[in-house]
Amino acid sequence: MDTSLFSSDYLSARDRFRAAALRLGCELEAHSVGERSPDGDDLCIDVAIRAGNSDQRMLLVTSGMHGVEGFFGSALQLGLLEEWIAHPERRPASRCVFVHALNPYGFAWRRRVNETNVDLNRNFLLASEAYRGSPPGYSRLDDLLNPRHGPARWEPVAVKLLAAIVRHGMPALKQAVASGQYEYPRGLFYGGGEASRTNRILEANFERWLGNAEKVFHLDLHTGLGRWANFKLFVDQALSDAQQHWLARHFGPDTYETPETQKVAFPTRGNLLRWGYAHRGGREYLAAVAEFGTYSVLRVVAALRAENQCHHWQNPADAVYEDAKRELVEVFCPRSDAWRLRVLERGHRLIERAIAGLSPGTI
Ligand SMILES: [Zn+2]
Repeated sequence: MDTSLFSSDYLSARDRFRAAALRLGCELEAHSVGERSPDGDDLCIDVAIRAGNSDQRMLLVTSGMHGVEGFFGSALQLGLLEEWIAHPERRPASRCVFVHALNPYGFAWRRRVNETNVDLNRNFLLASEAYRGSPPGYSRLDDLLNPRHGPARWEPVAVKLLAAIVRHGMPALKQAVASGQYEYPRGLFYGGGEASRTNRILEANFERWLGNAEKVFHLDLHTGLGRWANFKLFVDQALSDAQQHWLARHFGPDTYETPETQKVAFPTRGNLLRWGYAHRGGREYLAAVAEFGTYSVLRVVAALRAENQCHHWQNPADAVYEDAKRELVEVFCPRSDAWRLRVLERGHRLIERAIAGLSPGTI
């Protein structure tokens, strides 16, 4: 795998994904979210389905839930498709479903959120949950996180964020800021007021994508949290002993965190993993977010804040607007060749192990 797998924009990423999937003989689906790219193209979630020798075991790999994080997820998915085209002997025996760009609007417009400012990984509430409320600390931080004006050039954002970390402590701050809120539609980590278009597309198709699989391993690819170019798996379901053993055996005991052992991540409302688990039917379903680290939390939050300010309050023709977009892409997909190579290699190995783990006799 090499860095040429990274595309410069959503449209070329989409074209390359579709072309490779067709060459590999996958079934291909496109689900429009009803929005347009900056160049006027229809924005779609694309799905490549490759039947294996057996459809009882299945690997599901989803990318781009957080728009701009799709640059990496797309590159990794493309790399796998191309590898399987070039090396038939490495093609997995299990059924594989790759979902490309769950948030095509955010990918195309360089946002982490969708067309209605919704953080899609806070939008997958279960039928019993309401799109209401926010963490107790969020309203106190609203002014700091979501100023009602464009970014000021010399505002000491890092100092202000650091002061908030000192005041509240990092775990409490992560919880207050990022666990999901449903009351500030222009704010960060807004989960929406109803099921998003992406949510409805999954609702309509998820069961069919899983098909006859009895065992499903689902990896949802993300970037921007954790150590530079390293990854961690975050699970959000109660694990059986056999599942813990399986994760430790195939990925290493320190590569995953569960709700009980969380150090880097934090509980979120409305995430895809919990929704997927609720929609698993009678299947054995194990899902993890694979988070690939980039920069410090401070830099990532500052970039999210500035881009959100620009989106709502700044003229797109102003230089500061483009600066904020560029920084947002940088914190979720660094330009560094070293970072890009490392995350591709590590992501590739992760998927290889998942496929090995799905082969008969291993779970
Ligand atoms: Zn993410």
